[in-house]
Amino acid sequence: MTRKGIVEAPGVLVRASLGTLAALGMAGIRMDAVPTTAYLLQHSSTGCMAGCVFCPQSASVRGSKDYVSRVPWPPVELENLVGALRRRRVFRRICMQSVLKPRFAQEMIEVLVRLQDLGIPVSVSINPVGVEILKKISRLSDHLGVGLDAATPRVFRLTGKPYSWETYWWFVERGVEVYGKRHVYVHLVAGMGEAEWEMAETMEKIYRVGGEVALFAHTPIRGSPLSSKPDPCYYRRLQALRHLLSKGYRLGEVAYPENGRIVIRDRYLDEIRADAMLTSGCPWCNRPYYNEGPRGPLYNYPEPGLLPQRFPAECLAKD
Ligand code: SF4
Repeated sequence: MTRKGIVEAPGVLVRASLGTLAALGMAGIRMDAVPTTAYLLQHSSTGCMAGCVFCPQSASVRGSKDYVSRVPWPPVELENLVGALRRRRVFRRICMQSVLKPRFAQEMIEVLVRLQDLGIPVSVSINPVGVEILKKISRLSDHLGVGLDAATPRVFRLTGKPYSWETYWWFVERGVEVYGKRHVYVHLVAGMGEAEWEMAETMEKIYRVGGEVALFAHTPIRGSPLSSKPDPCYYRRLQALRHLLSKGYRLGEVAYPENGRIVIRDRYLDEIRADAMLTSGCPWCNRPYYNEGPRGPLYNYPEPGLLPQRFPAECLAKD
């Protein structure tokens, strides 16, 4: 069967996060916070051909392919999932993520065509693809996610990302041209060996080219050479800075480096409230417990009701 000239494939398998399946009644777990986005991932039984050392999906990382970060993502028939999404209108967005495998871009388009009928906004997080494919994908989604992940070329090389640092930036810029300003969320993972101010400068560059930052905390997985988690106060400073940059301020205007740390200038401190700690990403992307267990400490708060009364000002205090 074809629609708009695109061939649909029957019997496609995808992965869905356990929280997504639970919200759809397809898995029985207790949830302290419910995902507001349905998180889906392309399926590859042999793993993703990109060799990212921090990702359980990577074929280069030993262990189960049923995980992303610390969360189980079981495989499920796309048709069953679409049926459940149609019956239970519990999500405000769908996030469809790619792996690197033969025909991944074509399969992505086929899956997006299938999801389009649901009338739910869709984000696509995909490896760099050419402009023509990107344009096709943009007709089936309203936001793009780009997994740059690393904050510097040095960390980028260490983490085994596919393609080059330059190719990812090329893709971010093409994404902004195709999707529009502030419709491209660049994933950045804190705690993989970057210096604090390097992260600040990369965040600034993302906003300068018209993108937005989705912040993640590195979550060590078995079999990876990377074992560190970011210091919680470092992560709070990144969230505070991201909050200000997202409002349109420039890096040098709101912050400066001191002893390797980000220092927010006094006159901007009042603008940093507890909601700066909410998960950053596409509208309605809350990724509950993606980087941390429910007992915390929480790096990203998935909903306002879980936030503490105030932003931890001690993390912003000068040395
Ligand atoms: S920010 Fe969230 S919804 Fe957007 S692409 Fe990334 S994970 Fe998906």
